Amino acid sequence: MKNITVVCPGSFDPVTKGHIDIIKRASQMFEKIIVVVMPNATKTPSFTVEERVDLLRRTAGAIENVEVDCYNGLLANYMRKKDASAIVKGLRAMSDFEYEFQMALTNKKLYPEADTFFLAANSENMYLSSSIVKLVGSMGGDISDFVPEEIYEDIKLRLSGKEDKK
Ligand code: ADP
Repeated sequence: MKNITVVCPGSFDPVTKGHIDIIKRASQMFEKIIVVVMPNATKTPSFTVEERVDLLRRTAGAIENVEVDCYNGLLANYMRKKDASAIVKGLRAMSDFEYEFQMALTNKKLYPEADTFFLAANSENMYLSSSIVKLVGSMGGDISDFVPEEIYEDIKLRLSGKEDKK
């Protein structure tokens, strides 16, 4: 598509195969993708922002035109700083829609130069969320179908609570 930079924002706590699918598809449509980890004050994180960035770099970061960053502030300000022209978001179900539509309109108001594109989730990932990964992983369930293989062990270890405590 166009020669533009787009951002894929999210909390990515942790990144799942659902996120990777959206990032991959966006990378085939736009010239440059910046995946930006944004701390979400309403959720209790399992991974620090730095850890989330590292997990994303080891997976999505392998795609040539994908860059991973983090930002603690308004997405509109970040986009202005990076001269980004659009936001790409995944939509799983109607339940995502109301919130995402509200965010898209707010971002348009704060930064009218940018539009939001929604990509429909792949049917296999419709039910998948970081919260589900955390829930299943914390109870010792198999999360190998939910997260990228390269980072599976790290995520499993963190969620199981069996890491060496210093
Ligand atoms: P989560 O809801 O998993 O905590 P994030 O806040 O990290 O997700 O979401 C970042 C973006 O990724 C949002 O646009 C969200 O709709 C999208 N997304 C999350 N999970 C999936 C999935 N399984 N398939 C497609 N898009 C997804």
